[in-house]
Amino acid sequence: MAVSIAPISFAPALADLEARDLRRQRRTVHRGKPESAEIELDGRRCIDFCSNDYLGLAAHPQVVEAFIDAARMHGVGARASHLVTGHQAEHEALEQELAAYTGRERAIVFSTGYMANLGLARAVAGRDATVYGDQLNHASLIDGGRLSGAKLQRYPHADAAALEQQLATQESGTALVLTDGVFSMDGDLAPLPALAAACSRYGAFLAVDDAHGLGVTGATGRGSLEHFGLSPGEVPALVGTFGKAFGTFGAFVAGSEDLIETLIQRARTYIYTTALPPAVAAATREALAVSIAEPWRRERVLALTRRFRELALAAGITLGTSETPIQPILIGSADSAMRTSNALLERGFFVAAIRPPTVPADTSRLRITLSAAHRDEDVERLVAALAEILQPE
Ligand SMILES: *Cc1c(COP(=O)(O)O)cnc(C)c1O
Repeated sequence: MAVSIAPISFAPALADLEARDLRRQRRTVHRGKPESAEIELDGRRCIDFCSNDYLGLAAHPQVVEAFIDAARMHGVGARASHLVTGHQAEHEALEQELAAYTGRERAIVFSTGYMANLGLARAVAGRDATVYGDQLNHASLIDGGRLSGAKLQRYPHADAAALEQQLATQESGTALVLTDGVFSMDGDLAPLPALAAACSRYGAFLAVDDAHGLGVTGATGRGSLEHFGLSPGEVPALVGTFGKAFGTFGAFVAGSEDLIETLIQRARTYIYTTALPPAVAAATREALAVSIAEPWRRERVLALTRRFRELALAAGITLGTSETPIQPILIGSADSAMRTSNALLERGFFVAAIRPPTVPADTSRLRITLSAAHRDEDVERLVAALAEILQPE
């Protein structure tokens, strides 16, 4: 007898999300003054404290100009994938500049960071591999591990000793270790020296996704690896994104000649997709150059971060240990995180409430991010508003 097929219905699942305060809502943003952090959200003016535009480069006049010039010259779309006729001079030049910037043999540009991680994990880890990942890794690293078809192991957050124990029990096959450099929801750094040492003892391949470190962390903004003084030999694969500190869109992987050549041959999210618009590559080249030429942007966002922490701690607000521009305030339940976020919006600040499944259950939080585009008074007024709202009733 035929088994009857159950109908697909959406309404009950949506109602369930709503009931648990987990239904996501998109807000329509209008940026009237693109170089500032001021936005209009559903018609209400406020200061944006949740963008990843750490250096304020998304609307930098030179970056915008590079984008427009390249669009006039090359058109908007890339017209094909990289292995057909989509790989253009702007992509090639950007890859060479990224290799130099990261001190590696070669780099490859992907259309997004999500795709870079999926492509990397699958190309590096075969079916006989085990992929290890930090429990708080970005979703794209988790999904990359899953799609690779390898065995998966999560290790407790930032616990290099636990990773080492897991590596010690692996009986066969290769090992790929994936971690964020700066964790996207907590702002803390991965213990990269200890992870690299564990990997080198057991012959595991370490890939670091430094989406939130590049451009900001380290003495010259080269990211978490620079912060810890780690060499390409210790961290053979580095992933970076353009949509965060560089203010544009897209991503890259940097590593050895052989790693990058392998990605060109085997990364499905590179091969089977249209190349990044060449004008985005041109704008990214300019953003990279500006980030180097204007180090005050990095100093500024870090100074604002220190100022925020100082003021918040003085006001009795509990913060984590993060010294990066990602400054979460743990709230707990999804529903109080939403209420706090809404109360801030009423006072003119947009800070998104981050809820499960983006973060573990009961760790809903406000994720505040600082940017060189903020003014001192934006930060001061935000802390005053937070102090008022978070005061015990
Ligand atoms: C944002 C982010 C990504 C995804 O990058 P996109 O280019 O936005 O797809 C990957 N990894 C981490 C750690 C990120 O924060």
